[in-house]
Amino acid sequence: MKKLLTALATTLTATVAFAAYPDKPITIVVPFAAGGPTDKVARDLAEALRKPLNNATIVIENVGGAGGTLGAGKVAKAAPDGYTLLVHHIGMATSPALYRKLPFDVLNDFEYVGMINDVPMTVVGRSTLPANNMAELRTWMTANKGKINLANAGLGAASHLCGLLFQQAAQIDMTTVPYKGTAPAMTDLLGGQVDLMCDQTTNTSGQIEGGKIKAFAVTTQKRLTTPALKNLPTLDESGMKGFNVTIWHGMYAPKGTPKAVVDQLNNALKTALKDADLNKKFESLGAVTVTDNRINPADHKRFVEAEINKWGPVIKAAGQYAD
Ligand code: ASP
Repeated sequence: MKKLLTALATTLTATVAFAAYPDKPITIVVPFAAGGPTDKVARDLAEALRKPLNNATIVIENVGGAGGTLGAGKVAKAAPDGYTLLVHHIGMATSPALYRKLPFDVLNDFEYVGMINDVPMTVVGRSTLPANNMAELRTWMTANKGKINLANAGLGAASHLCGLLFQQAAQIDMTTVPYKGTAPAMTDLLGGQVDLMCDQTTNTSGQIEGGKIKAFAVTTQKRLTTPALKNLPTLDESGMKGFNVTIWHGMYAPKGTPKAVVDQLNNALKTALKDADLNKKFESLGAVTVTDNRINPADHKRFVEAEINKWGPVIKAAGQYAD
């Protein structure tokens, strides 16, 4: 009887505790530097998440480094109480192939909350590059073999994956320069310290529009309609047949976060993604809000698994690893 009462009391306490969720600030870990594309997506989303989460305070914590694996690792080990979450991108799916000793298991150390958006990428260069279009860029790259710097956000980052495929397609090896995120990489591209970068439109469209960097192509199979990007050719049509990379973002909680909390977060995510302001922001940056079933936890997890299987062999074939 005493055991039964204790069990009942524990269940009751847990129910009461989670019925009140959230009753303190929620931290969203962004595994890249502040001001970059993943950070922008997370901050815009956090604003739209507040209302459906009972006006909770949501704090963004930037834990950049090692292509996003430091931040993801931090969340994997955080208390599974719904107060530490992760917003990450395609790096969730590329890191298992890139890191021999990844300190977490992408499919087993997280509760999947749902997917946020799809974001195309762009190939951009410093404004002082003599090339003005893809054909001229290819000529310049051939003439400058061995001297080209390509910025990225570390092994496992979206910019790393895109840069890897771009070098393969162009058949030119470049010196990669890793940063804690593509916000600091963009600063150096603006300053002319690096030559090229492949990055999400969420980081590049404003700079392209302002004429601060040169834009050469988009990485999607089809051209984009976003005003700042609609005149850019695809890499596929520029002679890099089959080039097709789209980055996606998703939200995750540590494994063991109660299902009721994950469901509450998923419902809040669904409400936030219908927010008109959020959609306007995403649209202007070239991001496409997810409306299909990848917004559901189980479907998003299946999608990430499919992405692991899609990119793993491509990355392994390129022979790039980190310990
Ligand atoms: N765009 C970066 C990447 O290459 C990440 C970031 O800084 O948000 O993955």
